[in-house]
Amino acid sequence: DANLSTVDPEVYAAIDAELARQRGTLEMIASENFAPVAVIEAQGSVLTNKYAEGYPGRRYYGGCEHVDVIERLAIDRVKELFGAEYANVQPHSGAQANAAAMFAVLDPGDTILGLDLAHGGHLTHGMRINFSGRLFNVVAYRVDAETGLVDMAEVERLAVEHRPKMIVAGWSAYPRHLDFAEFRRIADLVDAKLLVDMAHFAGLVAAGLHPSPVPHADIVTTTTHKTLGGPRGGVILARLQYAKKINSSVFPGWQGGPLEHVIAAKAVAFKVAASPEFADRQRRTLEGARILAARLTAPDMAGVRVLTGGTDVHLVLVDLRDSELDGQQAEDLLHDVGITVNRNAVPFDPRPPMVTSGLRIGTAALATRGFGPTEFTEVSDVIAEVLKPGADLAAARARVEALAAKHPLYPGLS
Ligand code: PLP
Repeated sequence: DANLSTVDPEVYAAIDAELARQRGTLEMIASENFAPVAVIEAQGSVLTNKYAEGYPGRRYYGGCEHVDVIERLAIDRVKELFGAEYANVQPHSGAQANAAAMFAVLDPGDTILGLDLAHGGHLTHGMRINFSGRLFNVVAYRVDAETGLVDMAEVERLAVEHRPKMIVAGWSAYPRHLDFAEFRRIADLVDAKLLVDMAHFAGLVAAGLHPSPVPHADIVTTTTHKTLGGPRGGVILARLQYAKKINSSVFPGWQGGPLEHVIAAKAVAFKVAASPEFADRQRRTLEGARILAARLTAPDMAGVRVLTGGTDVHLVLVDLRDSELDGQQAEDLLHDVGITVNRNAVPFDPRPPMVTSGLRIGTAALATRGFGPTEFTEVSDVIAEVLKPGADLAAARARVEALAAKHPLYPGLS
């Protein structure tokens, strides 16, 4: 018998333990989700064996007739889902998608204007030791210290001053909508390309619950594993005029053979994302985040602040700058009671990056697990309780276990 459990009991045991961890705790990392079993099945398939350099109908290897069907399905479905003229489903990850998208239209040394990492941007939007920071001249815009909102006047001022070749809009930690039309106006003003990285909020866009960047941007990138709820991976959408340049930037520019097993899983995820059940999940995700923001900031609760005072998306950013508790301690306390979140620097954070003064808490994974307003209220109250001094952690842990038991995860998997 050559099953995983007999070939490699150590890896098998660690996977088993991870399944138990996912089932027994409450996942509130804003960039995570639970992929459907059908997605996991596609990703764990024999497609992992196949080389398919090139694109459907134009491969550098024989035997691609079936992976061509799969990749075409993925392309057609994601174009339909987001109303895009062109899609490339081969990027191995969100970072790869951004690298390929940028190098389709930029050269090393060009100037890009992106959101500061410390203010919610992503590494690939110009962080110093990321490829983006090393290969481009990076100018960063920030959020307003008072409102916590992206300062569009500063975006315009920096754009006019530095004349970037590309403006990057998108975020990893920001609780509000961006004004894509205003970004477009500013990009046109200085003749820059507009790249929107919708990795975090793509699921909300697919469900029609968040403004779409597609009509405004030259290029849109996303991951497929966050609110979109699919396999780990990346996608590039664009106006048709960029098709050739993006295709050759992904392959052979940045990648070799595509991961057709992941592309199959993406195709399944795009099909799921077009369903009414998916839209319902995204509605519960948003409602859960609003409940979380409201409960955490209620005067009789934890007494903490959240950035911008609330949220329009799937996450809440807790601001612990005035709190005794730092981000690391808060993350650890929540971990102790079975709630997984990540500490996150807040804008103008006085504490060091490994400690931070913030928590990023997301609701997408729990909505996938079946949580609705009742459960989101209960988990918000548990978080508020844990963040108070002298909290009863054993009682909190029991409440977490009850919530986990109420919505079993992957009931059919063993
Ligand atoms: N873009 C944004 C906005 C992200 O938040 C992330 C991941 O956190 C990425 C890109 C990168 O995705 P990946 O981790 O798949 O490379």
